[in-house]
Amino acid sequence: RVRPAALHVRSVQVAFGAVRAVDGVELHVEPGEVVGVVGANGAGKTTLIDAITGFVPSAGAIELGGQPLSAVSAYGRARAGIARSWQSLELIEDLTVLENLRVGSDARTWWSPLADMVRPKRGEPTAAVRRAVDVLDLGGHLGDMPGELSTGKRKLVALARAVAGEPSVLLLDEPCSGLDHHEREEVGKVVRSLAEEWGMAVLLIEHDVHLVRRVCDRIVALDFGRVIAEGTPDHVLSEPAVMAAYLGDV
Ligand code: ATP
Repeated sequence: RVRPAALHVRSVQVAFGAVRAVDGVELHVEPGEVVGVVGANGAGKTTLIDAITGFVPSAGAIELGGQPLSAVSAYGRARAGIARSWQSLELIEDLTVLENLRVGSDARTWWSPLADMVRPKRGEPTAAVRRAVDVLDLGGHLGDMPGELSTGKRKLVALARAVAGEPSVLLLDEPCSGLDHHEREEVGKVVRSLAEEWGMAVLLIEHDVHLVRRVCDRIVALDFGRVIAEGTPDHVLSEPAVMAAYLGDV
């Protein structure tokens, strides 16, 4: 079961040469809460997730349940209970859907574009994998190869793989992009229940303003790597600076 733990990000910075992709970001996500991250292309949203997971080095402090993570490897952070999905999905194409989910569950594995070096254990699916299958309604696809699935289903598999490790903190990078209206609604409902019923702390990068309003308890708006507004969706999405930086872009 999910072990509830809050995520704290304090003065986090990531630089790529002269580019400050993340520039002193402060945020927190409590168990049971969905916090949205909005911002124009290049605002630093994905890099923020990369920093939290340890995929890129960062300055500042990141804490899970009050424990500092700065000295913990990406793999160690995954084991500690931080999971993510990727915008590019990163499904392992030569494993079945079930095996992809087992990779997420077995070791709360840190996966990367090199993840096809990872192989799941065999045997019966764990209870955690079965719960992930049920919540995303993937029961009819467990033996399919990812390449046989629609874009919508592939996105659900990527989300299920992140969920299958029952992480305390779930970081989702545009889980709804490329989905139709109905699929977006479904993913929105799943994200809410992962927070409310499973107790995860969810950080959600999302461009769809309507979805953000319905799904997120709070929003953090980024522009050029900095937080320019933070608060309820209604508050943040009515800020002139956010309208200029974000809404003008979509
Ligand atoms: P999008 O909405 O397009 O996904 P984003 O808000 O996720 O954008 P990032 O992908 O985090 O933005 O990029 C933030 C900035 O960092 C951009 O200026 C980008 O060009 C730069 N950047 C990201 N990754 C790298 C990298 N590996 N090397 C150099 N620059 C990078």
